[in-house]
Amino acid sequence: MKLSEFAGYGDKMEQLMRSVQAGRIVHALLFVGPHGSGKRTMARLFAQAMVCAAPMKPCGECPACKRFLAGSHPDVKVVRPEKKSIGVEEIRALIDALSLRPYEGDKHIAMIEQADKMTPNAQNALLKTLESPPGEVRFFLITDAPGALLETIISRCQTVRFGDIGVELCAKVLERRGIEPRRAALLAGLSQGSVGRALEIDADGEWMALRERVIASLEALKGPASVAAAAVPLEEDKGGEAGILDIMELWARDLMAVQSGAMPYEASDAQRLGSSRIDGQALLRGVLQARQQLGSNVSWPNALENMYFQLTDTGNNGRTKLSWQR
Ligand SMILES: [Zn+2]
Repeated sequence: MKLSEFAGYGDKMEQLMRSVQAGRIVHALLFVGPHGSGKRTMARLFAQAMVCAAPMKPCGECPACKRFLAGSHPDVKVVRPEKKSIGVEEIRALIDALSLRPYEGDKHIAMIEQADKMTPNAQNALLKTLESPPGEVRFFLITDAPGALLETIISRCQTVRFGDIGVELCAKVLERRGIEPRRAALLAGLSQGSVGRALEIDADGEWMALRERVIASLEALKGPASVAAAAVPLEEDKGGEAGILDIMELWARDLMAVQSGAMPYEASDAQRLGSSRIDGQALLRGVLQARQQLGSNVSWPNALENMYFQLTDTGNNGRTKLSWQR
């Protein structure tokens, strides 16, 4: 993948590359963004561009690129949490390695993934090296929780921010990766515009099947008498309740969108959403309540059936409940 192909961020990266090539050297970059927003991919592309020997960087073909991609480039050091955190010993080992001369080029590249996992001691150990590195070093710190970093670390880095790129752009990126357009649109919607999350869903073959079962279960709700039968197929999912509730939350969001007159992201869902007898807001409330109940040791079948009974309870202020009259 080329920098310019990195949808939504091509401009940002080319700007960064230009500033490096023009000698305005940024020696520490902090890539910040939510899970799946592409910050790690982008940091890696950028680091690869810095070791690449070709005029169009990163080429992906030259020996330096190949070694980088294989994780065997001698001048590229990657630190990531092997256990719960990145300790001071790991940072000291990194600093020692950076004090040696680079093997291939004129600089070292130090990447710290999940930089927020550095202990305070580790961050303090890094601080001095970040301030005055031993020779030429480019630091790439990557995090989705910058709040866990010391202010002094953040202030020594140039921050590059990532957000989700939006559902439409996300779908285009997925299509470019060879995913068929309708599925790309669906995945982009389900991931709310996060390419990384969309690819996770795509790779998880069972997720789509589970989604179908969850929606079918909700569709089987046809009044209080139907609760037990509708709930049974989901009650058997031992340990799957969190994932089921996440899917219900997404469905509730789509119901709310359609019920307030917006278009759903996936045309094939339009009919199901439009004919649903479940009120989106009521479903969302039900999901939140079920999560609370699970947290206070209510069993999954009970939490689910409580939700379904509430959804089918027409005795209460009509609009927020199922409209069985339709
Ligand atoms: Zn190259």
